[in-house]
Parts: sequence; structure tokens; C-alpha cells
Amino acid sequence: MKIVYSDKLAARYPANPVESPDRVALPAKLLRECGYELVDFGPASIEDIARVHGREHIELVRKMGLYEPAALAAGGAITAAELALAGQPAFALLRPPGHHASANRAWGMCCFNSMAIAIKRVQPAARRALIIDIDLHYGDGTASIFRGDPDVKLVNPWAVDESFEYLNMDESRYLMQVEDAFLGFEPDIVAVSAGFDTYLQDWGGLLRLEDYHKIGRSIREGSKSCKGRRFALLEGGYHPDLKWCIKSFLEGFQ
Ligand SMILES: [Zn+2]
Repeated sequence: MKIVYSDKLAARYPANPVESPDRVALPAKLLRECGYELVDFGPASIEDIARVHGREHIELVRKMGLYEPAALAAGGAITAAELALAGQPAFALLRPPGHHASANRAWGMCCFNSMAIAIKRVQPAARRALIIDIDLHYGDGTASIFRGDPDVKLVNPWAVDESFEYLNMDESRYLMQVEDAFLGFEPDIVAVSAGFDTYLQDWGGLLRLEDYHKIGRSIREGSKSCKGRRFALLEGGYHPDLKWCIKSFLEGFQ
């Protein structure tokens, strides 16, 4: 299991205060201490970004002073996807998040859709992609980019803003949704939009550390149908326990 991380991700840029550099720097420190190998990377090219986003949106991100951090996050996503394709499972510690970015709009602290950029980059080699989005919030940007694409299956288990069912579910039903994501689809690669804001102490108030372990393990098991090709990208997650959530997820996912 490789951890995709760059010290450049800790740069300050105009952002909501909850989306702080510590969200990636502290997990990177912990995972390094735990013996994980960290892999550095560079930004995505304009060609990679333009495969997903329109020119006006790219210019808007540039005017907001967010092009460099957003292109860097997209580059980390590509690195994680390419490692997965080469048989090395990977987890990318990234910021800003990306799953609320569609082709021409973005909100929710997102700029470029790093997941979509990575999937489109590796699709010539891994055509059918299963994306499991475990963030608390519905990945509307990713859904909009891949809407109508029969080669991409996107599953958001009980996102809080997708279904009023959220308040009625428990962690075992959540896990069942993750397992069911693999039904009826044979992917060439499995990707996880790994947000941790469904955590018990975070906004979602539901999943415990051991649930993240189970989710990671379930996705690892499911990915055996595509030679274990799997990678995950950090999306949301704002509680100081974020590093423990990631560590627990990785213990199952690796
Ligand atoms: Zn979220």
C-alpha cells in the first residue's frame, strides 16, 4: 500500500478554515511513523484537467488563485490511479477535495474533480471503473461528469443529502451498501472517494473507527474481481481524529 503525498499540499491557499493543511500533514506524519511508504508527485497537466473541465471553469479556478493547489490534488489522484493500475494499491492524501466539482461548476470547497480526472486518464487501460463515494455528502460533481456513461458505476452509500433515509440507518446497513456496490458490475479498477465526515465525532455522527476498517476490508475483498486494482482519494473529513479514521480504513484496505 503506497501513500501518495506531497509536502506542497500543506501550502496555504484561500479556503474555508476547516479545510486546513493539517488535514493532510497530520495523517502523512502518522502513516510515515506506521511504516507506510510515501510517494511524491507533481501536478496534473492542463490536458488532463481539460479532459474533464471546461475552459471557463479552469479560468475561474485560476482567477480565484486556486489553480495550483487544485492541479496538484488532481496530479496526486492520477498518481494513485496509475499505481493501482500497476498492481500497487494506493491512498492519496489530497486537498482540496473534488467530488462536488462538475465539468463547469464547483462548490463545497472543491475546484477540480480529481477522481474524474484520474479515472479518465487511466480509462484507456482500465475502461470500467467502480467509484464508491463514502463521504457524508453526495458526490454530485462526479455523478454529473459520468452521468450516462455505462463504463462507470458510481455508488454513494446513504449520502446525507441524497436520501432522507440517512437518519434511519445504522452502521451495519451502511456497510451492506458498500458490499452491494460490487453487485452486477465487473470493474477493471475500483476507486474510493474517501471522505471521513460520516465519522461518529464528525458532522455525520455515524461510523466508528472499526467501521472504517470494515469498509476498507470489504472494498479490498470486492476488488479481487479486478486483480486487486484499487485506490482511494481523500475527500472530506474535518474532525481532528481524521488521521485515525484514515489509518483504520487503510488497515482494512491494504
Ligand atoms: Zn463531505
